Amino acid sequence: MNGNDIIALGLGIERPWEITGQSLKTECTPHELRITLAAPRGSSFPCPECGALCKAHDFKEMTWRHLNFFQHHCYITADVPRIKCNDHGVKRINVPWARKGSKFTLLFEQAALMLVREMPVLAAARIIQIADKKLWRIVSHYVSKSLAKLDLTELKAIGLDETSAKKRHNYVTVFIDLDQQKNPVVFAVPGKGKDTIRQFKRFLTEHGGTADNILEVTCDMSRPFLSGIRKHFSKAEITVDWFHVVQIFTKAVNKVRVLEAKKKRLPKATRWAVLKNEESTTLSENERHALAELNSMDFFTAIAWRVKERLRWVRKAATPQAAKWRLSNFLLCMAETDLTRSPVLKPIISAIETVIRHRQAIESRWQSGHSNARLEGLNSIFQAAKARARGYRNPQTFISMIYLLASPVGNLLKST
Ligand SMILES: [Zn+2]
Repeated sequence: MNGNDIIALGLGIERPWEITGQSLKTECTPHELRITLAAPRGSSFPCPECGALCKAHDFKEMTWRHLNFFQHHCYITADVPRIKCNDHGVKRINVPWARKGSKFTLLFEQAALMLVREMPVLAAARIIQIADKKLWRIVSHYVSKSLAKLDLTELKAIGLDETSAKKRHNYVTVFIDLDQQKNPVVFAVPGKGKDTIRQFKRFLTEHGGTADNILEVTCDMSRPFLSGIRKHFSKAEITVDWFHVVQIFTKAVNKVRVLEAKKKRLPKATRWAVLKNEESTTLSENERHALAELNSMDFFTAIAWRVKERLRWVRKAATPQAAKWRLSNFLLCMAETDLTRSPVLKPIISAIETVIRHRQAIESRWQSGHSNARLEGLNSIFQAAKARARGYRNPQTFISMIYLLASPVGNLLKST
């Protein structure tokens, strides 16, 4: 075995292709190892359509970037023929070391994908010395190729949530399979609201699933989502994720605090204290004092905070009956509390009204066989995907990363 044979083996090239030359170009930095491939004159090549062996019609010189050879960049150059097939006419053949249309060898792309699974794309691009835009193109090619193989025949229960690729911009809606603990993401699409539900339905149908099989949908309380689900997934029971109920009240408490702070001085450390509960282990000494002072002086912020805390009591209900009873009791209690006495309390009133509007969907979480913290878990996936797409983040790159990190696509890729 000579040097050419070893390189040929590494490249995965086969007859009629062989290495006809290699040289190290030292006038550029980094130096470039140039490998030339050729097929002997008169060789036959398979037609890309039917595989029939045909003679070459004409040639074009093409070049691909290959894995670095130590610190040197490595390029492969070959005269690639067009063949003349009796059935398909003149066609450019596919070379065994690269996919059609790519300027990189398959081995280069595989190495790139391996890195991208482990680190931010920007860092991976730096290591293999390629423009990050080009690396993104490779990533999105393989992600969509694997995505095409996704089988959703068995999908019965989904959760969905929205996030943004950039702060309050470029929304992306993500759908998960509630029955999958690992790699739950099945679909991600730019935008938020009703149309994302329609697009998911189409995707589901294209991947073997049916809308009528979907019996449960977990989501937040946004009207567009809810009406989209009722329209496109009419058999599904809608469950509002508890995480979103809490989120609404946390935001409301915060708004009350901001309104009240405009009128009078609130105790130090109030801001973070009211986001926590009394038993929270992360409560600092200052925050503990703030809560005590707020409660003893009857600030509006304290009233709002107590409403949020009562809601935690509802959450702890062990059975559907207990939950129903606790929620009724909570609402009754709220009706008796005079929350209308100051406009400062308005945010908390509208949070309570939201609960009333979605009462049934909130209660149905106690009937659901699925864990209730699933959408909350999505948040960490979003954060990881954002970090990986740092430096070049738009809805498409963000979505590619979500698929790569949290959908079965990551595994499918390993088998390509
Ligand atoms: Zn043919």
